[in-house]
Amino acid sequence: MATRKIREMGESVLGKVCKEVKEVNKRTLDLIDDMFDTMYEAQGVGLAAPQVGILKRIFVVDVTGEDPMVFINPTILETDGEQTGYEGCLSVPGKTGTVTRPNYVKVRAYDENMEEFELEGEELLARAILHENDHLDGHLYVEKVEGELLNTADLADEEEEA
Ligand code: ZN
Repeated sequence: MATRKIREMGESVLGKVCKEVKEVNKRTLDLIDDMFDTMYEAQGVGLAAPQVGILKRIFVVDVTGEDPMVFINPTILETDGEQTGYEGCLSVPGKTGTVTRPNYVKVRAYDENMEEFELEGEELLARAILHENDHLDGHLYVEKVEGELLNTADLADEEEEA
């Protein structure tokens, strides 16, 4: 198990546009393994490569704890509906805020074998995919928060961090 240091809001790497992945090599696979280890250790449901300081278009998501998914060079094909709820980010520790996002997403991406796939997600999965996808373009959820950014400790433990 190898975890990497999670970069926090204010670090410039989180504000940059990530580069397309041209090939998946040993280093890429190591990065993906480390991203899962880092995400699970931090009890997050998603993690994007820039959150560990790597400017590549890769993110990982696991909203159930048993369904790890890798997205390389993702494209959001479709969104629909609306959901409003608490959201957090491993790069903004201890904080949470209310964010409205689409309730449905259809995404095309490549897996760790560079095989293309399409996936549809709703609710938390849609939220996680859209949150992580924003990281690849240098955006954090705090830009979308309605009202105040709250301290997680002040709330019930119902929010998720990605
Ligand atoms: Zn995040």
